[in-house]
Amino acid sequence: MIDYFDDRGIKYTVGPAKNVAKGRIGIKCPFAGCQDRSNHCGIELSTLRFHCFVCGESGDAVKLIREIEECSFKEAKGIIRRFNLGAVTRPTPTGGSSPLSAGEVDSTQIKTLSYPKDVVTLKGMPKSHRRYLSKRGFDPSYIWKKYKLAATSHLGHRFKYRILIPYFYKRKMVTFTSRDITDKSELKYQHLSDEESSIPIKSLLYGEEFCGDKVIIVEGPMDVWRIGDGACALMTTSMTNDQMLRLIDMGVMMVYILLDSDAVLQARRLKFQLRGIIPYVEVISMDRGDPADSLTRTNIKFLRGLLK
Ligand SMILES: [Zn+2]
Repeated sequence: MIDYFDDRGIKYTVGPAKNVAKGRIGIKCPFAGCQDRSNHCGIELSTLRFHCFVCGESGDAVKLIREIEECSFKEAKGIIRRFNLGAVTRPTPTGGSSPLSAGEVDSTQIKTLSYPKDVVTLKGMPKSHRRYLSKRGFDPSYIWKKYKLAATSHLGHRFKYRILIPYFYKRKMVTFTSRDITDKSELKYQHLSDEESSIPIKSLLYGEEFCGDKVIIVEGPMDVWRIGDGACALMTTSMTNDQMLRLIDMGVMMVYILLDSDAVLQARRLKFQLRGIIPYVEVISMDRGDPADSLTRTNIKFLRGLLK
């Protein structure tokens, strides 16, 4: 892997180091729309599987190399052979390895997740968290209850001073992300790792339990909170195969894509990806900012009207 990165002039950090565990190499995440500024995409040397802690993208070496090189599956395999990057398995027909990719997963087999032992959650909503949500223009009590949020203080350890935001699949909590409330953390959103999750975060759409057959696809949970029922979030600007399968499973017929104003190209890419899968796909662009902060009351009313 190092030979390959050296050959391509890609900078990397070898673990153990800041943000990079032992047995891993970190590179700046190559996925479009990821806000990684420094080597948060970790590659496990033994398996060559990668996971980005900023955007949550994960997968095998073929997927990573395809993103770096913008090349075909065959070309990526060629590179892997040339640099002797070890055995790599062909992706499953649906393109992923998560439990959802199998298509007919028995939901009783999916484990309900609890918050990890080292992450101590507080009872109720502390004042600091309430203040944070108010400041962002939300009704704290309503959001807290509806989305089953939780809070951490310094006792949250790796998730300290955060709002924990659970993801549900068939009413079971299966993973979570978290939002820093201090605005001092380098990672605004920090997710539970795929290994600790019952279902990886990029296999799901945040807020899908409140969606019908018309949806607005947004980037983050706060965009979902702002728009309300019918909005679901990718957690990045790109959509995985598993997330596309979720739309199909949900019986979605109409998709409106509403990404942040700096993601015009990604929104267009997403539209191409969904054409042929979803009968109606339309991009709605933001002049500035993101849906969570920049939508007016009139905008929100209009968007909710689209979902009726
Ligand atoms: Zn990333």
